[in-house]
Amino acid sequence: MRLDKLLANKGFGSRKDVKALIKKKRVIVNDQFVKDSSSQVNPEKDTIKVNNAMVHYQEYIYVMLNKPSGYVSATADNRDKTVIDLLPTSYQLFNPFPVGRLDKDTEGLLLITNDGKLGHHLTSPKKAVEKTYFAEIRGNVSGRDIEIFRNGVPLDNGYTAKPALLNILRSGPMSLVHVTITEGKFHQVKRMFESVGKKVEYLRRIQMGDLQLDDGLEVGDCRELNEFEVENLN
Ligand code: URA
Repeated sequence: MRLDKLLANKGFGSRKDVKALIKKKRVIVNDQFVKDSSSQVNPEKDTIKVNNAMVHYQEYIYVMLNKPSGYVSATADNRDKTVIDLLPTSYQLFNPFPVGRLDKDTEGLLLITNDGKLGHHLTSPKKAVEKTYFAEIRGNVSGRDIEIFRNGVPLDNGYTAKPALLNILRSGPMSLVHVTITEGKFHQVKRMFESVGKKVEYLRRIQMGDLQLDDGLEVGDCRELNEFEVENLN
């Protein structure tokens, strides 16, 4: 790949900044000063140093975002702000995409990566990866709803949702629940509750597979996953 692209990707600034570094003889590849920022390097084989420090190439990025309401789960949109807009530029340079979708008004755990294989693995219906949501529901959620969810809720288009686990945290005119589903149909949780005559007033994803939303992550903030978290996603 192009050296300037690699170094920009590693956070050494724009391609123009990288060019300036090269001109100042700050960039060394395989013990030779680099003359041309467009020169090609093999990040796995070549030894690259900037300001005398080794540069380690990172192919993939894995980011946990605590998605706020008001952002769409897409890489680009004509009207709305996207979840990618919330990432620092150094993450955006990896061309990441959100794994699956959360509605514009849904908050919580969204994984953003450029690892297409992992993205596919986590969203493939065959893998049936569990996703858990915290929800505030207008209406009295009951044991009967738990049973209906367990047996598969019929949705508005005639499709029956796969069995889901409903946990009531508080029941009342405004109920609090945890719900775990293994699919990702359009507005799925909202439609499941509509089917039992209730309305989702607030929805936040708190877990996907083994990955839990970091309690310490403010709404709108993001961080890279640690190695352990990445390994557990596979
Ligand atoms: N179910 C929904 O209804 N909305 C989401 O954003 C996610 C799951």
